[in-house]
Amino acid sequence: MKYNSYMLHNFKNIPQIESIPVELIDAIETVGSVLPFKTNNYVIDNLIDWNNIPDDPMFKLTFPQKDMLIPGHYKKMMSVIQSGADKPAIKEAANEIRLQLNPHPAGQLEHNVPMIEGEKLYGMQHKYRQTVLFFPSQGQTCHAYCTFCFRWPQFVGMEDLKFASKESELLVKYIKEHKEVTDVLFTGGDPLIMKTKHLETYIRPLLDANLENLKNIRIGTKALGYWPYRFLTDDDAEDLLILFEDVRRAGKHLAFMAHFNHPVELSTDVVSEAIKNILDTGAVIRTQSPVLKHINDSAEIWKEMLKKQVSLGCIPYYMFVARNTGAQHYFSIPLVDAWKIFQKTYQSISGICRTLRGPSMSCLPGKVQILGVADVKEEKVMVFRMIQGRDPNWAARPFFAKYDEEAIWYTDLKPAFDEEKFFFTDELNRILSPEEVENDFE
Ligand SMILES: *Cc1c(COP(=O)(O)O)cnc(C)c1O
Ligand code: SF4
Repeated sequence: MKYNSYMLHNFKNIPQIESIPVELIDAIETVGSVLPFKTNNYVIDNLIDWNNIPDDPMFKLTFPQKDMLIPGHYKKMMSVIQSGADKPAIKEAANEIRLQLNPHPAGQLEHNVPMIEGEKLYGMQHKYRQTVLFFPSQGQTCHAYCTFCFRWPQFVGMEDLKFASKESELLVKYIKEHKEVTDVLFTGGDPLIMKTKHLETYIRPLLDANLENLKNIRIGTKALGYWPYRFLTDDDAEDLLILFEDVRRAGKHLAFMAHFNHPVELSTDVVSEAIKNILDTGAVIRTQSPVLKHINDSAEIWKEMLKKQVSLGCIPYYMFVARNTGAQHYFSIPLVDAWKIFQKTYQSISGICRTLRGPSMSCLPGKVQILGVADVKEEKVMVFRMIQGRDPNWAARPFFAKYDEEAIWYTDLKPAFDEEKFFFTDELNRILSPEEVENDFE
């Protein structure tokens, strides 16, 4: 299958676009000037139900919607476009708005950047003891863009790709020197946007180096959801599958971290075949998604998605909470509601689907999971624990926040029982500078 991508400049070539109301086209143009937009022929022809516009979840997942900008920003952007402004003027207006959407400028990434021989390794992040994130420089885009994506600043060119690395040698060296590291997680964008030969230049050295402490090579990708032909008919699909087999042959586990946001992404024959091909290499597929308003904010949808995943041989892994950036106001739901969806989902699936963890916020102190709502000594509280902690000792320790049915992010939480702070607050402040705590970047 030939891959055709569509962005702001050519989306009107999509045949189905003719059938949608002009207001929706205006919204795509207006919001798409601020937030990134990219889709492709597989998503358009197989995943979107064009008879269900504008409500279709995959349409909302990939096409910009009016309400993704607050009314003031939308109006501003629309008037600039309608005034016939040239490209630089449109870009300037867009950037002005983007800066108000918490795009976390690159400086805030400093804290998770590892060092080797006194030099910072941009292109890597090491926040949790066992797992190093690696951002291959050619893997910083995707087969289509999710409208909720927290990486939006890099797709619109706001963040210099300072943290994209070409340096697989340094990666090997770093893992050698850090015996606590058992996992490397390739991430992006989407590392599987890369040609196999490029991916190989990162993975083969890891295998050849015989790193005893390295056990798991993880690849975080949405290719199964957005372009399953990557594992079937793309020129280098076979080489990719051979690479996966070689990981196994080298005695490492290839952990394929697949992003699926809606069950329809698991409904095509192409995706079933792609999953089968990956599993045949000995890799294990784990799945993750945020819970998102307009897309998947119901237990029924999650139940269907998880059951389908498990029946195809995938293992449910993370349910995330929408991050505090970009169009968060459009996608986020209160933590208490996310937990209710989790609980209802969990209750309706069998044990082998209950490997799902969450809902979890990837935030400054760690991966913070809401365990539920409880009454403790006549106070209604929210119960949390960290799945991962910036300090490893924080993990798996429960803590309590005042009940707040509107809280959507951990920064909205107040300690329960009239305590002044959470158990991790002092240490977090010690590790980080005050601006960082305020900016709340991971
Ligand atoms: C989520 C995440 C990981 C991986 O965490 P696991 O719980 O092992 O899947 C690693 N590093 C960062 C920065 C993360 O946000
Ligand atoms: S595939 Fe992942 S990185 Fe790419 S746009 Fe979607 S959420 Fe973002």
